[in-house]
Amino acid sequence: MARALQAAEDAAANGEVPVGAVVVVEGKAVACAHNRREKACDPTAHAELIAIREAGAELGRWRLDGATIYTTLEPCPMCAGAMIAARVGRVVFGARDPKAGACGSVVDLFIPGQFNHRPAVVGDVMAEACGMILRAFFEERRNNAKALVSSAQKSRLGTVKRKQSLWDMALHGVRRDGRVRLKASDSKSDVGVTPPGVQIPLSPL
Ligand SMILES: [Zn+2]
Repeated sequence: MARALQAAEDAAANGEVPVGAVVVVEGKAVACAHNRREKACDPTAHAELIAIREAGAELGRWRLDGATIYTTLEPCPMCAGAMIAARVGRVVFGARDPKAGACGSVVDLFIPGQFNHRPAVVGDVMAEACGMILRAFFEERRNNAKALVSSAQKSRLGTVKRKQSLWDMALHGVRRDGRVRLKASDSKSDVGVTPPGVQIPLSPL
């Protein structure tokens, strides 16, 4: 699980939701992957699915019976289905996923007698560390989004203030260089500072 957690950290460093998975056969890690949904533009690029594919390629067979898959997050229905299809022997997961977990949180695809294969399941392994990296990732993403919104609001406020300032100058006949703009009625006594007439915009904003 520690190695899967390391893969999850790699995912976070690459801007991906931090989930990692490792497939172990006879004590040897034959595949290790992290979530790549963003980079691959692929909704199916979950860590577990990639690790299962890589394990099949590494072993030269699609049946992964005897294999244990370690994943930092409770598998979703898609990945749980792939584990059944691959005849994975055992599934070990970390944090539970109350929104998409298919090992009991939302549904349980591994209930005995449902499908033609049922892996053994062990949950809540290093759950605190596996959940912490997800919480930290989403908290940072929320803070970044807030900072962006705040920056955009400040920028818009600045634009409004500049427009308001121009509007005030137009109303009070003050030019940007600080000189007083003469009214049309004063044009006879004008010394050529500016053409008469003030163009007032229809709206200040
Ligand atoms: Zn999944």
